[in-house]
Amino acid sequence: MHMAAQVKGRAIKKQERKIMIQINPLEKPDSAKFQDPDVTADGETRASVSLKKLETLWFNTGTLCNLECVHCYIESSPRNERLVYISAEDVRTYLDEIERDGLGTREIGFTGGEPFMNPEIIQMLQDCLSREFETLVLTNGMRPKMNLSEELLTLKARFGDRLRVRVSIDHYGPDLHEEERGKRSWEPAIEGLRWLSKQGFCVSVAGRSCWGEEEVSMRAGYARLFEELEISINAYDPVRMVIFPEMDETIDVPEITTQCWNILGMSPEDVMCASSRMVVKRKGAERPAVVSCTLLPYDLQFEMGETLAEAACKVKLNHPHCARFCVLGGASCSATKE
Ligand code: SF4
Repeated sequence: MHMAAQVKGRAIKKQERKIMIQINPLEKPDSAKFQDPDVTADGETRASVSLKKLETLWFNTGTLCNLECVHCYIESSPRNERLVYISAEDVRTYLDEIERDGLGTREIGFTGGEPFMNPEIIQMLQDCLSREFETLVLTNGMRPKMNLSEELLTLKARFGDRLRVRVSIDHYGPDLHEEERGKRSWEPAIEGLRWLSKQGFCVSVAGRSCWGEEEVSMRAGYARLFEELEISINAYDPVRMVIFPEMDETIDVPEITTQCWNILGMSPEDVMCASSRMVVKRKGAERPAVVSCTLLPYDLQFEMGETLAEAACKVKLNHPHCARFCVLGGASCSATKE
């Protein structure tokens, strides 16, 4: 799975936040935290986030993947079928609901697993693009995507830059990328990225910050890589070159209370679940379900119903990811969020 955009100006804010709320990497998670959805371990009111507008609807296409990455938060692999392939018909049901209820959704995103392994991915992309949604698909860029190169070229010819592809290149050097993604994963991913760029697709790259390198140094590294490979991506543009904060579950994080918004100078509207939801299809379930966001597909307290209407309720930030990734990490999965 491939994620999130660090947004302009966030690098500075993030430093400020870290000063205000210290995260001690040596501290083990406190088991008293993140228990009660309404109240924190200290007895304070837990923060919640209302859905302002459904700007982006994500679909998880299924957790099967041709790779098995070390830190994949959704544990995608060639064997993981906890989330099964979603169908084009499932997707159409939600697109119909968006239209029928005038939700004004702008962007549809597809994530996995590897979305290009889903046998109906091209139909799903076509359905979204035909209805004039900006459509983003996240991929590892490897063989499953290249097997559909003709179909992708046809979509690009019809819909141009409304189709966006984001390729996960975890680090700008092959060694660390392969440390995460496995041996022989670098060359095919780079080939896939070069092909997309050469064919004029609207392409972006997602990297990871898990090696402790400063963002400025990472961007410089990607800039050198893109120049060398003649890939037309500005590595300093946080939308085209996305660097994810890490989601290390072994580190203790503070719980987010209603007071935190003021302390951090943030609004609940800045957080992903104020503007997006994700549809998943669990193995054995009759119908898909809507969850709060791309980060919490398995935790049932974040499952909000079967329809978008049911899922329009408040999200209580009762998970370490809420603090680590969204509130303190300042990240978003959208392709266009500024
Ligand atoms: S991890 Fe928590 S705060 Fe972030 S989008 Fe998901 S539910 Fe919202």
